[in-house]
Amino acid sequence: TTTNESLLEVEGLSVSFDGFKAVDDLSFRINRGEIRVIIGPNGAGKTTVLDLICGRTAATSGSIRFAGRELTRMKEYDIVRSGVGRKFQTPSVYEDLTVFENLEISYPRGRGVFEALFFRQDRAMLERINDIAAMIYLDDKLDQQASGLSHGQKQWLEIGMLLIQDPALLMLDEPVAGMTISERVRTAELLQRIIQSRSVLVIEHDMGFVEKIAHQVTVLHQGRIISDGSMEHVKNDPKVVEVYLGH
Ligand code: ADP
Repeated sequence: TTTNESLLEVEGLSVSFDGFKAVDDLSFRINRGEIRVIIGPNGAGKTTVLDLICGRTAATSGSIRFAGRELTRMKEYDIVRSGVGRKFQTPSVYEDLTVFENLEISYPRGRGVFEALFFRQDRAMLERINDIAAMIYLDDKLDQQASGLSHGQKQWLEIGMLLIQDPALLMLDEPVAGMTISERVRTAELLQRIIQSRSVLVIEHDMGFVEKIAHQVTVLHQGRIISDGSMEHVKNDPKVVEVYLGH
């Protein structure tokens, strides 16, 4: 359910690397419950946008407001703690651990020594692991080692490891790359469930998938937004057609 309440507001965001403007005066917002997809050719600046939002790269100028807070000068760790989850392209699950254990170690715990020493598998955590395992289609694989999962299942597990931390914004870099067709369909369904209580920012090349999931599409080219709006709007935009089909 999309609302008009904005969660993320990016204003005039720019970053230069040795004078090269990788991201140039970018502005967009993401409402609660909304999926925004960033598309664009290689080198357009898509990954850099995610790096800027999660604090991996410092902006040269501009601002990033998230849930009313200014993220622009915050450290990556604090940005994660404030509710931004990011999944990179290659799955990074713990291969030697089971699905359950992967979710368990990602469960946010109190950070005090006392809590660390006396932590037990409490009911709230077990319920949450079960709920998320069902959401990511792995509830019958909780005791299976992650190394035995398919590529798509590992991608879902990593999404689950982020969900268990309860981020308000989930950022995904090419989530369906390497997935089978049926895994892509299930990933689209998974995203529909995720946005019932959060927002999602995705980088994606698979246009069929983008068409299926995107509420808003941002088209980046050479660090700038050349088109923005519904998939219907951007795919009929002459500037987009030119970038994708050549001159
Ligand atoms: P995309 O994800 O759309 O393929 P990127 O965001 O990875 O594009 O890169 C955009 C441009 O910025 C590229 O030309 C890339 O070489 C450059 N770039 C990205 N990160 C850095 C960096 N840390 N230092 C120098 N150049 C970078």
